[in-house]
Amino acid sequence: MLVVMRHGAPEESIRRVVEAIREMGYQARPMPGRQRTAIGLIGNDGKVDSNRLEALPDVLQIIHVTQPYKQVSREWRDEPTVITLDNGTRVGGPDVVLMAGPCSVESEEQILSVAHRLRGSGATVLRGGAFKPRTSPYAFQGLGRKGLELLALARAETGMAIVTEALETDTVEVVAEFADIIQIGARNMQNYPLLRRAGRTGRPILLKRGLAATINELLLSAEYILAEGNDKVILCERGIRGFDEHTRNLLDLTAIPVVHALSHLPIVADPSHGTGVRAKVTPMARAAVAAGADGLLIEVHPQPDRALSDGVQSLWPQQFDELVHQVSLIAEAIGRKLTPPLTSHVAMPAQR
Ligand code: PEP
Ligand code: MN
Repeated sequence: MLVVMRHGAPEESIRRVVEAIREMGYQARPMPGRQRTAIGLIGNDGKVDSNRLEALPDVLQIIHVTQPYKQVSREWRDEPTVITLDNGTRVGGPDVVLMAGPCSVESEEQILSVAHRLRGSGATVLRGGAFKPRTSPYAFQGLGRKGLELLALARAETGMAIVTEALETDTVEVVAEFADIIQIGARNMQNYPLLRRAGRTGRPILLKRGLAATINELLLSAEYILAEGNDKVILCERGIRGFDEHTRNLLDLTAIPVVHALSHLPIVADPSHGTGVRAKVTPMARAAVAAGADGLLIEVHPQPDRALSDGVQSLWPQQFDELVHQVSLIAEAIGRKLTPPLTSHVAMPAQR
């Protein structure tokens, strides 16, 4: 529920509303806006009796948030959430953000060479898994902490921001030490202890849609993060389980306009996992930008045929250049543009 205060309401009136909410057993979150202050009431699962609040001085209006997710919804906040990373990249604004890199960090040579290459292509965020969720327990599981250190080295050399996955609750804090954005993978979308722990770090979170998750379930998972006081959430459509075998997943691009209508959070698309097929990545990247995606997450490997994970869906660097060129034209056609490339070197810390 939202308690909207009259324009210019004095501090005293705001304080009285906050106190009343607390006395009712809920949390109060004042949100000063350009026009007026609203006070969010959180912690309720059903409808709250608002009689007591309506009677308080300077209360203009009570808005009952009808969706099961509250802070994530457009009813709660109408303006889009824009997340600014340390290197200046803004996610959720008018510019379409390019996040790219290998599925896994494999070696210093691999990650540094591809990072420099991708920075030159216009990507401002470098992806790479250090803790990998693999379907087979015998497959490459990632370099762990060493992988994080290599990503930090790549950030220090290129100024790119880092997005990398936190797989388990035990390692969330170490990932947070190195990452600009913590990725929560599709298999963990409903791992609620992990969502809470990642939320508490205060770092931006890239939350991937689960393999069989509805859009409401995705938004409710995001709500777990906001409920920890962290509103820096980027949603990611990475394909859901379909019945056709030509692609690894069914990239649900409808989710993009649906999420934009329901929520103020940004949403990016991952056509690499969404299709699982190298030749299908660029066409679906074009389609995702056309559908309104706030960014793209693309797997690129310096030698995809030698990749330790997801080589068949990874682009060669020159294919990524072509993708960037094509999606820039699409972005322009819908009145957007790509995030400008990192020109001067932004000093980024090796460790946070
Ligand atoms: C990945 O980004 O490499 C990954 C494992 O993604 P997902 O969780 O979407 O499968
Ligand atoms: Mn992958």
